[in-house]
Amino acid sequence: MNTLSQLHEDIETRVKAIRDSQSDWLCRQGCDGCCRRLAEVPKITAEEWDLLQEGLAALPSEQLREVSKEIAALAGKVSRPIVCPMLDRANGACLVYVQRPVACRTFGFYVQRDLGLYCKDIESRVTDGALAEVVWGNHDIIDSRLRDLGETNDLPEWFARWKGAIE
Ligand code: SF4
Repeated sequence: MNTLSQLHEDIETRVKAIRDSQSDWLCRQGCDGCCRRLAEVPKITAEEWDLLQEGLAALPSEQLREVSKEIAALAGKVSRPIVCPMLDRANGACLVYVQRPVACRTFGFYVQRDLGLYCKDIESRVTDGALAEVVWGNHDIIDSRLRDLGETNDLPEWFARWKGAIE
């Protein structure tokens, strides 16, 4: 069965295996490097959006207003990298951690063909050969499973539809 929760579970298993095999793994609470350097405006499937929407709806209204402004500003944005609009910049914490998209769960732990999906810090360790034993997750399989989870849209597009429906 390929549901979003099954996908989360499978990713968590791979992530845990990597963490358990590397006591000094770089991804940890308080590191928000990848959230501050998104290569693209996030693309999200329908099922991921349904979950993310729950997290956004639970934010205090003032915070949701701020996030709304940041998401709206992403539409048509051409400069890169992008700071994720759901990052609490003061605390370096994700405002929707429990409901975060799949890409946020796999980044740092998965590779796609010969392309490592990780930050420069992990990349330099890979180049040094320090992570030669790591069994990376396969992101091509994740992408294939995501295609079963409904249409894909940019985050601002999902958000605009939602705000349009509730306002
Ligand atoms: S949704 Fe959360 S975890 Fe994902 S990039 Fe944004 S702040 Fe980071």
